[in-house]
Formats: sequence, structure tokens, C-alpha cells
Amino acid sequence: MRHLVLHPKPVLRCRADPIDSIDSAIETLAAQMIEIMKKEHGIGLAAPQVGVSKRMFVTEGVAVDGSEEVPSPDRVFINPTILLVDGQLEALEEGCLSLPDIRGSVRRQPHVIIEATGLDGKRFMLESSDLMARCWQHEIDHLDGVLIIDRMSVIDRIVNRKRLRALERCGGED
Ligand code: ZN
Repeated sequence: MRHLVLHPKPVLRCRADPIDSIDSAIETLAAQMIEIMKKEHGIGLAAPQVGVSKRMFVTEGVAVDGSEEVPSPDRVFINPTILLVDGQLEALEEGCLSLPDIRGSVRRQPHVIIEATGLDGKRFMLESSDLMARCWQHEIDHLDGVLIIDRMSVIDRIVNRKRLRALERCGGED
């Protein structure tokens, strides 16, 4: 069984490899990632966060319609690409399952169109102007070895300095 990988494990800093074919190993990995995401109460999880350097992430089935949360399916994004970003960067506090107890303000594009392959092998396109747009950018960062600590303001980095050092002393072990 796979488990959540914490900073500073090197796999979190690699540029992940594209997935050539969707076989049963990828299906199993997706199911395990969804399970871990839910257990850890995350809204998204990228493959490097479970120790697999492949271009895939999952998101929880929550969508926001106006001010209401509506159920939507858990999704698997394989080889995702951001097609369009639009608008002025917006700052919002983010956390990351691989960086427990660390939070900071991250500037992201508010409107995003993403394209990815699903477990059925078909390419699909989605658009978001809410939390999911932010989540997609966060997860794609993971596939490029980028963490929120790289995108935080200097002040947030100072605020989180002690927790970050403590985490780094543990070497990514629980
Ligand atoms: Zn994260």
C-alpha cells in the first residue's frame, strides 16, 4: 500500500514523467491516490505525493456552483496541460498534504482551462474559476517538482520557518 510522502523527500522535487499507457497499474494507483486524498482530507493529490514520479493527479468530487457546493465525481487527470489562464493573479492561503501545518498565501491565475486524459484513455477539457482552478495549478506544480514554499511570500516563509525546519529535520518521515 502506498502512503503520503512528505517534504523533503526528493521525489517531490523531480519533474514527473508522462504516462504512455493506461494499464491496470495506473488504475490501481489512481484508486489508491483517491483513497489517500480522502483519508487525509485533501481536495487534490499528485502522484509524486505517494512516491510515484508520473504526471497524474486526482481531485475530490466537490464543485462550487455559485455559492453552493454540488457533488461532482472524483476525477483523475493523466498528462494534464493547462490550456489557458486568464485574469489577474489572485493571492489566497494554501496548504499541502506533503507540508503538514504549513500554510501561506500563493498567487495563482483565477481562471483556468485544463486538458487531461481520463482513466478511459480519452482526452477531456475542464474550465474553472473557483477553488478547482487553484487546485489544478497546485497539483501541476507538484508534477514539475514545485511546492507552495517556493511560491510563498518572504513573510510567509518566515512565519513557517520553524515548522519547515522541523519537517526537514525529520527527512520526510512521519
Ligand atoms: Zn500539495
